[in-house]
Amino acid sequence: KKVADRYLKREILGEGTYGVVYKAIDTTTGQTVAIKKIRLGKQKEGVNFTALREIKLLKEVKDPNIIELIDAFPHKGNLHLVFEFMETDLEAVIRDPNIFLSPGDIKSYFQMTLKGLAVCHKKWVLHRDMKPNNLLIGSNGQLKLADFGLARIFGSPGRKFTHQVFARWYRAPELLFGAKQYGAGVDVWAAGCIFAELLNRRPFLQGDSDIDQLGKIFQKLGTPTLSQWPDLEWLPDFVEYSSQIAQPWRKLCPTASDDALDLLSKMFTYDPKSRISVQQALEHRYFTSIPLPTDPAKLPRPA
Ligand code: ADP
Repeated sequence: KKVADRYLKREILGEGTYGVVYKAIDTTTGQTVAIKKIRLGKQKEGVNFTALREIKLLKEVKDPNIIELIDAFPHKGNLHLVFEFMETDLEAVIRDPNIFLSPGDIKSYFQMTLKGLAVCHKKWVLHRDMKPNNLLIGSNGQLKLADFGLARIFGSPGRKFTHQVFARWYRAPELLFGAKQYGAGVDVWAAGCIFAELLNRRPFLQGDSDIDQLGKIFQKLGTPTLSQWPDLEWLPDFVEYSSQIAQPWRKLCPTASDDALDLLSKMFTYDPKSRISVQQALEHRYFTSIPLPTDPAKLPRPA
């Protein structure tokens, strides 16, 4: 079935936060694409206009580490977003027991993650939904951020979606404490979780509720003190927690190099004002010390 005379619909790829995603062929270029169908039904018309304007801006973003938005159009009450088709994602790489990730491979995947995020932040857009299955990997090994800017346009994904629970594991403490105003630090925290997950090959902070998520964070990183994070007591959901001490990073990520652990600890700084920025993280010596990041074309990917 053709959509808007241009795309030949193929199989459904999955159900995402905002709606169904399906594979399609762009008949004008022969390119395989992924089309995200976003329900707009219940929204007011004004929202649609804002969304379309924002989407026009997203179409202008062209970067090797951000998924390209090829086209966007409303069709039968749904908004269709057309993206380049990507073979796999970082979650599949991390979970594949047949894949060995060398320190250089981890460095390469993580560097591409931060490079994509740096582009978002330079444009003053927060990603807000960083997680391994939002980091798509193309046939040439390039890693690209997906869903960039969507959270701002369509609102943060609702909690009623079951697959959203995974995003909790990447949620920064200021969000868990109910901060209404937050910044780029939320993406840095999430990126830190992804870095630790690449190193350990398992999710780093697996809470099974928002309260438990904070518990898991404190268990590993220690309870934040007011001297570490002076603004903490002013956050809406602040409550005192019984104090726990931080575990040594060496114990939390046993296979990581000293440089990797130093970067990791800076990304997990409690006070968002003191947390390292994405740009500073990219300039960290971890990325220039040996082993150098693996050439993306040579990175291991699922069979
Ligand atoms: P979520 O909202 O949970 O992050 P998405 O809406 O991004 O999920 O995607 C839903 C499904 O579609 C996933 O299985 C994902 O792998 C697939 N998908 C999304 N974008 C692409 C793409 N550009 N290329 C190939 N598959 C994609």
